[in-house]
Amino acid sequence: MTKVIHISTECYPAAKAGGMGDVVGALPLYLPGQGIEASVITPRYKRTWFEQQSFVTQYSGELNLDDRIVDFRIQRLEGTLPYPFYCVDIPGLFDREDIYLAENGHGYPDEPERNISFQLAILDWLSHEADLFDVFHCHDHMTGLIPFFLKCCHQFEMLSKKPTVFTIHNGQYRGIFDWSVHRYFPYYDPRHAGLLDWDGAINSLATAIKCSWVVNTVSPSYMQELINDFDTLTPLVSSEREKCEGIINGIDNELWDPKTDEFLDHHLKGTNWKSFKSKNKSALIKRLNLKSRRPLIGFIGRMATQKGADVLASSIEESLSKGLQFSTVILGSGDKAIEQALTELSNRYPRDISVTIAYDEKMARAIYAACDFLMMPSRFEPCGLNQMYAMRYGTIPMVSNVGGLKDTVPDISQKGNGIVAETIDTAGFAKGIERAVHLYKSKKELGQLVEKIMGIDWSWDQSAQKYAEMYQQLNQ
Ligand code: ADP
Repeated sequence: MTKVIHISTECYPAAKAGGMGDVVGALPLYLPGQGIEASVITPRYKRTWFEQQSFVTQYSGELNLDDRIVDFRIQRLEGTLPYPFYCVDIPGLFDREDIYLAENGHGYPDEPERNISFQLAILDWLSHEADLFDVFHCHDHMTGLIPFFLKCCHQFEMLSKKPTVFTIHNGQYRGIFDWSVHRYFPYYDPRHAGLLDWDGAINSLATAIKCSWVVNTVSPSYMQELINDFDTLTPLVSSEREKCEGIINGIDNELWDPKTDEFLDHHLKGTNWKSFKSKNKSALIKRLNLKSRRPLIGFIGRMATQKGADVLASSIEESLSKGLQFSTVILGSGDKAIEQALTELSNRYPRDISVTIAYDEKMARAIYAACDFLMMPSRFEPCGLNQMYAMRYGTIPMVSNVGGLKDTVPDISQKGNGIVAETIDTAGFAKGIERAVHLYKSKKELGQLVEKIMGIDWSWDQSAQKYAEMYQQLNQ
């Protein structure tokens, strides 16, 4: 059996900040069925989940980080997850509650030390246990230097023949560091320094694209978008396109099951989706004191321009001012200006819009279950999981035509799964809201669509098979 280790800064339920956490937590569940043994390793954070588990130390080591010696431990989880789970305990660097952000809402200033020490600790461990895994699967730029270290550092020569897979979950974040960060690197053949460089800086994402055996994005359309236009990295992706592919994410059907979801107060019974939706909707509307007897439109996600969160307030306000009847529930946090614009709008229209600035898994599930529509005005979307969760819970997606949204939500005018906005701006989504309000009135059409989208299989099976074939080919 080919043995793969997923190296990631997130894995649900240990630590999740977004879709990557869901993917790394779910894909390993579906790989054994395809003949692959999958393990996961993340940093150990100061989070409740870690404190509630029992770990055994598998390896202790130390790293030279410039003039500092950094002690670390590799710990293995005993039980509780269906796949082998390891964490790297690096006191001083990772024993913090938030995965990426300091209290001021900005990234931790010692991000380079954190990323580099996490990656080097894993390689130090595995250079002592070289047979444990056959393939290294790295996720996003935080683990993007591993393929370089394996290729170019004498210290890890015994691992240099191990194939590497690099998944881009979000190409906007690149791990760009000043060359002074170089002092944390172990010795490598200086002729390879160019592999680290892009535009005069160390660029972890570019390095991963250059050095990994295979690069994939989490949807085919997103890969095509990167090949066509990935700003300064466009020529790099184009030149490496032979080893690039796009594999759409799946969802964990057990964790996201309207019949059993442990976060929900009202479950789907049999095929009675009408009762499921109306009970959840009434409960949420009552709790948030929103107006009833009208469509409920939701948004869940990071308040970032990537997610088009800045389009929410203006398109909702334009639609309300036109007299359209709908209620909105918004959950998320991020950009302070976007948070403020939405909060102000909800203060002006308290019975039409509810805004919760938080990360709240239970509320997210309540929104998926309660809403009639879920808005996703993303400017780019590597895959997007929300639209798949929404459909599974009988909520019609209203999306922009990019990346994974393009691959999963064709417009209803093309016999598709949801409403596709023509433009990613106020006018495009105001029009989307108008179409949603009209569709809501047409009960027969609405019912047929809800039944159809609830029946679509978004499970990991097909995509897990693609990953398995990839690992097996690499490990031949
Ligand atoms: P991202 O680009 O943020 O990773 P994805 O669509 O890939 O976006 O995944 C988002 C995941 O994070 C989904 O599981 C979604 O439900 C969850 N999520 C996002 N924001 C919140 C929030 N404020 N509270 C709870 N869950 C959230």
